[in-house]
Amino acid sequence: MNFEEFIRRFGTEKKCVQYLKKERERRGICCSNCKSNVTNWRSKHMYWRCKCGKKISLKSGTMLESTKLKYSIWFKAIFLMTHINKSYSCAELSRVLGIKRERTVWYLMMKIRTAMGKDLNAKDYFQYLYIYAANKDSEKNITGLKNQSISAICRSVKKGNDEISLIAPVELQVSVFAKENNLKQSGYRCLKILGVQEAIELKDPMSPVKSSVKNWMDTLLMNSNRILNGVHHGVSFLHIQKYMFEFSFNYNYRNKDKFRRLFECLLT
Ligand SMILES: [Zn+2]
Repeated sequence: MNFEEFIRRFGTEKKCVQYLKKERERRGICCSNCKSNVTNWRSKHMYWRCKCGKKISLKSGTMLESTKLKYSIWFKAIFLMTHINKSYSCAELSRVLGIKRERTVWYLMMKIRTAMGKDLNAKDYFQYLYIYAANKDSEKNITGLKNQSISAICRSVKKGNDEISLIAPVELQVSVFAKENNLKQSGYRCLKILGVQEAIELKDPMSPVKSSVKNWMDTLLMNSNRILNGVHHGVSFLHIQKYMFEFSFNYNYRNKDKFRRLFECLLT
Protein backbone atom coordinates (compact mmCIF):
# COMPACT_ATOMS: atom_id res chain seq x y z
CA MET A 1 0.00 0.00 0.00
CA ASN A 2 1.40 3.38 -0.90
CA PHE A 3 0.68 6.63 0.89
CA GLU A 4 -1.96 7.76 -1.58
CA GLU A 5 -3.88 4.52 -1.19
CA PHE A 6 -3.62 4.78 2.58
CA ILE A 7 -5.14 8.28 2.55
CA ARG A 8 -7.90 7.12 0.21
CA ARG A 9 -8.81 4.16 2.41
CA PHE A 10 -8.06 5.43 5.90
CA GLY A 11 -7.76 9.18 5.58
CA THR A 12 -10.56 10.05 8.00
CA GLU A 13 -11.63 8.91 11.45
CA LYS A 14 -14.91 7.67 9.98
CA LYS A 15 -13.20 5.47 7.41
CA CYS A 16 -11.01 3.90 10.11
CA VAL A 17 -14.01 3.19 12.31
CA GLN A 18 -15.89 1.64 9.37
CA TYR A 19 -12.96 -0.57 8.46
CA LEU A 20 -12.42 -1.74 12.02
CA LYS A 21 -16.11 -2.45 12.50
CA LYS A 22 -16.28 -4.44 9.27
CA GLU A 23 -13.17 -6.45 10.13
CA ARG A 24 -14.48 -7.28 13.60
CA GLU A 25 -17.89 -8.28 12.30
CA ARG A 26 -16.29 -10.49 9.69
CA ARG A 27 -14.65 -12.40 12.54
CA GLY A 28 -17.86 -12.43 14.53
CA ILE A 29 -18.46 -10.69 17.83
CA CYS A 30 -19.14 -12.95 20.75
CA CYS A 31 -20.75 -11.66 23.92
CA SER A 32 -18.58 -12.49 26.92
CA ASN A 33 -21.68 -12.62 29.09
CA CYS A 34 -24.11 -14.93 27.26
CA LYS A 35 -21.81 -16.22 24.47
CA SER A 36 -24.24 -15.27 21.74
CA ASN A 37 -23.26 -13.68 18.44
CA VAL A 38 -23.81 -9.93 18.53
CA THR A 39 -24.75 -7.94 15.44
CA ASN A 40 -26.68 -4.99 16.80
CA TRP A 41 -24.42 -2.00 16.10
CA ARG A 42 -25.23 1.39 17.63
CA SER A 43 -23.36 3.87 15.51
CA LYS A 44 -24.10 6.86 17.72
CA HIS A 45 -22.32 5.36 20.73
CA MET A 46 -19.96 3.16 18.71
CA TYR A 47 -20.68 -0.14 20.37
CA TRP A 48 -22.51 -3.37 19.73
CA ARG A 49 -25.35 -4.17 22.06
CA CYS A 50 -26.15 -7.75 22.90
CA LYS A 51 -29.72 -8.86 23.61
CA CYS A 52 -28.63 -9.59 27.18
CA GLY A 53 -27.81 -5.92 27.57
CA LYS A 54 -24.03 -6.07 27.39
CA LYS A 55 -22.29 -3.35 25.45
CA ILE A 56 -19.22 -4.26 23.44
CA SER A 57 -17.12 -1.33 22.37
CA LEU A 58 -15.22 -1.19 19.12
CA LYS A 59 -11.90 -1.55 20.93
CA SER A 60 -12.81 -4.16 23.53
CA GLY A 61 -11.14 -7.52 23.18
CA THR A 62 -8.52 -6.12 20.81
CA MET A 63 -5.09 -4.67 21.49
CA LEU A 64 -6.53 -1.20 20.94
CA GLU A 65 -8.29 -1.58 24.26
CA SER A 66 -7.41 0.73 27.15
CA THR A 67 -6.12 3.54 24.98
CA LYS A 68 -7.91 6.79 24.35
CA LEU A 69 -6.20 7.46 21.07
CA LYS A 70 -8.22 8.23 17.99
CA TYR A 71 -8.65 5.35 15.56
CA SER A 72 -7.01 7.38 12.83
CA ILE A 73 -3.89 7.71 14.98
CA TRP A 74 -3.76 3.94 15.36
CA PHE A 75 -4.08 3.46 11.64
CA LYS A 76 -1.40 6.03 10.91
CA ALA A 77 0.96 4.41 13.40
CA ILE A 78 0.31 0.96 11.91
CA PHE A 79 0.93 2.30 8.41
CA LEU A 80 4.12 4.12 9.37
CA MET A 81 5.57 1.26 11.37
CA THR A 82 4.97 -1.23 8.55
CA HIS A 83 6.35 1.05 5.85
CA ILE A 84 9.80 1.79 7.14
CA ASN A 85 12.87 -0.29 6.46
CA LYS A 86 14.39 0.25 9.87
CA SER A 87 12.32 1.48 12.76
CA TYR A 88 10.90 4.66 14.25
CA SER A 89 12.22 6.07 17.45
CA CYS A 90 9.57 7.17 19.88
CA ALA A 91 10.51 10.84 19.51
CA GLU A 92 10.37 10.65 15.75
CA LEU A 93 6.96 8.98 15.59
CA SER A 94 5.61 11.48 18.14
CA ARG A 95 6.66 14.29 15.85
CA VAL A 96 5.18 12.69 12.75
CA LEU A 97 1.88 11.90 14.48
CA GLY A 98 1.75 15.31 16.13
CA ILE A 99 1.40 13.92 19.65
CA LYS A 100 3.29 15.87 22.26
CA ARG A 101 3.16 13.31 25.02
CA GLU A 102 5.86 10.83 24.12
CA ARG A 103 4.76 8.34 26.75
CA THR A 104 1.45 7.88 24.89
CA VAL A 105 3.30 7.13 21.67
CA TRP A 106 5.65 4.82 23.52
CA TYR A 107 2.71 2.68 24.69
CA LEU A 108 1.23 2.73 21.21
CA MET A 109 4.47 1.54 19.65
CA MET A 110 5.03 -1.13 22.28
CA LYS A 111 1.53 -2.49 21.73
CA ILE A 112 2.21 -2.67 18.03
CA ARG A 113 5.53 -4.43 18.66
CA THR A 114 3.86 -6.90 21.01
CA ALA A 115 1.30 -7.65 18.29
CA MET A 116 4.11 -8.17 15.79
CA GLY A 117 5.39 -11.00 17.98
CA LYS A 118 2.10 -12.86 18.00
CA ASP A 119 2.69 -15.12 15.07
CA LEU A 120 6.34 -15.76 15.70
CA ASN A 121 5.97 -19.12 17.27
CA ALA A 122 9.21 -20.79 18.16
CA LYS A 123 7.63 -24.24 18.26
CA ASP A 124 7.30 -24.41 14.48
CA TYR A 125 10.91 -23.76 13.75
CA PHE A 126 13.39 -26.47 13.06
CA GLN A 127 16.67 -24.74 13.39
CA TYR A 128 17.96 -22.22 15.78
CA LEU A 129 21.31 -20.73 16.26
CA TYR A 130 23.18 -18.58 18.63
CA ILE A 131 24.58 -16.06 16.31
CA TYR A 132 26.68 -14.12 18.68
CA ALA A 133 28.02 -14.54 22.15
CA ALA A 134 30.41 -12.22 23.81
CA ASN A 135 29.63 -10.16 26.85
CA LYS A 136 27.57 -12.02 29.41
CA ASP A 137 26.88 -9.13 31.76
CA SER A 138 23.30 -8.04 31.47
CA GLU A 139 23.18 -4.31 31.67
CA LYS A 140 20.10 -2.23 31.67
CA ASN A 141 21.00 -0.12 28.73
CA ILE A 142 21.20 -1.28 25.16
CA THR A 143 24.78 -0.12 24.82
CA GLY A 144 25.68 -2.93 27.19
CA LEU A 145 23.78 -5.40 25.04
CA LYS A 146 25.29 -4.86 21.67
CA ASN A 147 27.83 -7.60 22.04
CA GLN A 148 25.53 -10.05 23.73
CA SER A 149 24.18 -13.17 22.17
CA ILE A 150 20.91 -12.94 20.36
CA SER A 151 19.43 -16.26 19.38
CA ALA A 152 17.80 -16.58 16.03
CA ILE A 153 15.39 -19.26 15.03
CA CYS A 154 14.95 -19.74 11.37
CA ARG A 155 12.22 -21.64 9.66
CA SER A 156 13.89 -22.07 6.34
CA VAL A 157 17.21 -20.90 5.07
CA LYS A 158 16.21 -21.17 1.41
CA LYS A 159 16.87 -17.88 -0.22
CA GLY A 160 13.77 -15.71 -0.37
CA ASN A 161 11.68 -17.97 1.87
CA ASP A 162 13.62 -17.66 5.06
CA GLU A 163 11.85 -16.58 8.19
CA ILE A 164 13.39 -15.66 11.45
CA SER A 165 12.48 -15.13 15.04
CA LEU A 166 15.06 -13.24 17.00
CA ILE A 167 15.07 -14.08 20.66
CA ALA A 168 16.67 -11.98 23.33
CA PRO A 169 19.64 -13.54 25.09
CA VAL A 170 18.63 -16.36 27.40
CA GLU A 171 20.48 -14.90 30.37
CA LEU A 172 18.52 -11.75 29.81
CA GLN A 173 15.19 -13.54 29.66
CA VAL A 174 15.83 -14.90 33.13
CA SER A 175 16.37 -11.42 34.54
CA VAL A 176 13.30 -10.15 32.67
CA PHE A 177 11.08 -12.76 34.33
CA ALA A 178 12.46 -11.94 37.74
CA LYS A 179 11.97 -8.22 37.22
CA GLU A 180 8.46 -8.66 35.76
CA ASN A 181 7.40 -10.75 38.73
CA ASN A 182 8.47 -7.99 41.08
CA LEU A 183 6.78 -5.31 39.03
CA LYS A 184 3.56 -7.32 38.73
CA GLN A 185 3.12 -7.22 42.47
CA SER A 186 3.58 -3.47 42.56
CA GLY A 187 0.95 -2.99 39.84
CA TYR A 188 3.32 -1.52 37.26
CA ARG A 189 1.06 0.08 34.64
CA CYS A 190 3.10 -0.94 31.64
CA LEU A 191 2.69 -4.64 32.39
CA LYS A 192 -1.04 -4.23 32.86
CA ILE A 193 -1.31 -2.75 29.41
CA LEU A 194 1.23 -4.81 27.51
CA GLY A 195 1.07 -8.06 29.42
CA VAL A 196 3.95 -10.14 30.60
CA GLN A 197 6.21 -11.76 28.08
CA GLU A 198 5.70 -15.46 27.60
CA ALA A 199 8.57 -17.80 28.19
CA ILE A 200 10.44 -18.70 25.05
CA GLU A 201 11.91 -22.13 25.22
CA LEU A 202 15.23 -22.84 23.64
CA LYS A 203 16.87 -26.18 23.29
CA ASP A 204 20.60 -26.66 22.96
CA PRO A 205 22.01 -24.26 20.44
CA MET A 206 23.19 -25.49 17.09
CA SER A 207 26.13 -23.92 15.37
CA PRO A 208 25.79 -22.92 11.75
CA VAL A 209 27.15 -25.63 9.52
CA LYS A 210 27.47 -23.81 6.24
CA SER A 211 29.48 -20.63 6.03
CA SER A 212 26.74 -19.04 3.88
CA VAL A 213 24.26 -19.54 6.72
CA LYS A 214 26.73 -18.13 9.18
CA ASN A 215 27.24 -15.04 7.02
CA TRP A 216 23.51 -14.56 6.66
CA MET A 217 23.04 -14.78 10.41
CA ASP A 218 25.88 -12.35 11.02
CA THR A 219 24.24 -9.84 8.70
CA LEU A 220 20.93 -10.24 10.51
CA LEU A 221 22.50 -9.60 13.86
CA MET A 222 24.44 -6.64 12.55
CA ASN A 223 21.29 -5.09 11.11
CA SER A 224 19.24 -5.64 14.25
CA ASN A 225 22.03 -4.17 16.35
CA ARG A 226 22.27 -1.21 14.03
CA ILE A 227 18.59 -0.46 14.59
CA LEU A 228 18.85 -0.88 18.34
CA ASN A 229 21.91 1.29 18.64
CA GLY A 230 21.27 3.76 15.86
CA VAL A 231 17.54 4.38 16.17
CA HIS A 232 16.60 3.53 19.74
CA HIS A 233 18.56 4.87 22.63
CA GLY A 234 18.27 3.56 26.13
CA VAL A 235 16.15 0.48 25.42
CA SER A 236 15.29 -1.12 28.73
CA PHE A 237 16.24 -4.77 29.04
CA LEU A 238 12.62 -5.42 30.01
CA HIS A 239 11.47 -4.59 26.52
CA ILE A 240 14.29 -5.80 24.32
CA GLN A 241 12.23 -8.74 23.07
CA LYS A 242 9.58 -6.41 21.65
CA TYR A 243 12.20 -4.76 19.46
CA MET A 244 13.28 -8.21 18.35
CA PHE A 245 9.66 -8.96 17.45
CA GLU A 246 9.54 -5.88 15.28
CA PHE A 247 12.74 -6.77 13.49
CA SER A 248 11.62 -10.36 12.87
CA PHE A 249 8.15 -9.29 11.72
CA ASN A 250 9.56 -6.80 9.24
CA TYR A 251 11.94 -9.41 7.95
CA ASN A 252 9.41 -12.21 7.61
CA TYR A 253 6.77 -10.10 5.91
CA ARG A 254 9.19 -8.15 3.74
CA ASN A 255 7.41 -9.23 0.52
CA LYS A 256 3.91 -9.46 1.95
CA ASP A 257 1.10 -7.17 3.04
CA LYS A 258 2.48 -6.11 6.41
CA PHE A 259 -0.29 -3.64 7.14
CA ARG A 260 -3.00 -6.26 6.86
CA ARG A 261 -1.09 -8.87 8.82
CA LEU A 262 -0.32 -6.49 11.65
CA PHE A 263 -3.92 -5.38 11.74
CA GLU A 264 -5.02 -8.99 12.15
CA CYS A 265 -2.52 -9.47 14.98
CA LEU A 266 -3.91 -6.42 16.76
CA LEU A 267 -7.47 -7.69 16.54
CA THR A 268 -6.88 -11.11 18.02
ZN1 LIG B 1 -24.94 -11.23 25.75
